[in-house]
Amino acid sequence: MKIFKHKINLINHLVSIKKLSFVPTMGGLHEGHKYLIKKAKKKSSEVIVSIFINPKQFNSKKDYSTYPRSIKKDLAILKKLNVDFVYLPNYYDIFSFKPKNKVYLDKFAGKLCGKFRRNHFEGVINVINRFLEIIKPHSIYLGRKDFQQLYLIKRHTQKNNIKVKIISCKTIREKNGLPCSTRNHNLTIFQKNIASKVCKLIKKIKKNIKKQKKYEFSVKKIKMEIMQLGIKKIDYVDLLNIHNMTKTISTKANFNIFIAFYLGKIRLIDNL
Ligand code: AMP
Repeated sequence: MKIFKHKINLINHLVSIKKLSFVPTMGGLHEGHKYLIKKAKKKSSEVIVSIFINPKQFNSKKDYSTYPRSIKKDLAILKKLNVDFVYLPNYYDIFSFKPKNKVYLDKFAGKLCGKFRRNHFEGVINVINRFLEIIKPHSIYLGRKDFQQLYLIKRHTQKNNIKVKIISCKTIREKNGLPCSTRNHNLTIFQKNIASKVCKLIKKIKKNIKKQKKYEFSVKKIKMEIMQLGIKKIDYVDLLNIHNMTKTISTKANFNIFIAFYLGKIRLIDNL
């Protein structure tokens, strides 16, 4: 496993590689990340994983500074998974050049998390745009756990005509139903328990909506049920058609329930 800290060395090394798969991460690796990497390893001869905690996508300095970091452990995991290349850039390696493509933000960036996290998606697309220019991967593996992010990255690559195959990967969950997330490390057992109940409730509600003949639900009622589990702050609960991200759905249409809520200061998102 080769580790690169500077893009110049990385670019020089990657020129001869034809089919490279890329898994971008912010570290704090868990089973969700491992699934993406294993899937990439199966499909492609060479896999590169980046670990970069992008300050531009955080809304507060506190959130950025408390984001879990475990680089030694992460590198041991990547080695065990037989990853070929790891890119560990610093801020300047990523942000000190002018990329060829402009950040394209689809209007969906203003919905869901975009309503509550100002400039978050601009920060995400900015960094991904730079990674794609440096690495020029054949494919990029992204998780549906961050559905809105996945959709917006796809729109950015389409709009800029960037030749990269986007591989969308299922959400990996803990035994308790909670999606694996680096932020879960900051939850107490009590908080985890409540979060798990929220995910189970959303799963049950989706199942019940699907059973209905006529599509009927009340976001207000769903929010109340979540609050009853001990959640004090919910950013949003929304049901969207996952093909076009609009509210035009019927029980037959493929929809997901999107949710963002807080446990103390920790913000969790899920979609089921
Ligand atoms: P992050 O390190 O949180 O920026 O995530 C890096 C990549 O892993 C993103 O494409 C995420 O959508 C994906 N990911 C995060 N959590 C999960 C999960 N539980 N299951 C599958 N993919 C995930």
